[in-house]
Amino acid sequence: MKVNSVELVISAVKEQQYPNDPYPEIALAGRSNVGKSSFINRMIQRKSMARISAKPGKTQTLNFYLINEQLYFVDVPGYGYAKVSKKERQAWGKMMETYFSSREELQLAVLIVDLRHKPTEDDLLMYDFLKYYEIPVLIMATKMDKVPKSKRQRQLKQISETLEIESEDQIIPFSAESGEGKDEAWRAIWSYINA
Ligand code: GDP
Repeated sequence: MKVNSVELVISAVKEQQYPNDPYPEIALAGRSNVGKSSFINRMIQRKSMARISAKPGKTQTLNFYLINEQLYFVDVPGYGYAKVSKKERQAWGKMMETYFSSREELQLAVLIVDLRHKPTEDDLLMYDFLKYYEIPVLIMATKMDKVPKSKRQRQLKQISETLEIESEDQIIPFSAESGEGKDEAWRAIWSYINA
């Protein structure tokens, strides 16, 4: 897909701040440092639009990026960073709960994991959280450029099995470095939106 325009419409904390236009929303979730910003930047063909803005200790926000005035990418703050205070963790949980439990525009969550590794306990919790709210999940296994071709299938299988991915959910290998998987990722995203 050709991305002609991207606009950070709002960094929201509270529900009242969510945009009130009718575009479909795709949420992006992943462990801190997994490569979520790089995924977004590669998908929207911008070098550094999505930043590691939600540094641990700073205010955590849902960043709504409007793409081609057609859909939103909603960048969710990363999880699994050890040095986060209990209070911050609670605020994060509350924000996630509010958004994922009731957002009508939300059509899909993209869960970003690392193709090199077995998903972490936090990845599992996130997948189960999304499925609890019956949200379709597209698993994006990033950093595929770091995994030799001969080992990719095995890694994909390990991720599917560890997360116990439901049959309707897909997993796609991706590299923000090389751009491999980008067309497949866009195709998959559109298939959920048009469903
Ligand atoms: P975030 O915290 O999840 O937003 O992670 P970032 O996008 O900031 O990426 C964390 C680190 O992983 C950075 O050093 C990136 O350059 C690197 N990275 C992200 N995606 C890829 C990828 O597909 N391939 C490789 N080789 N490195 C990546």
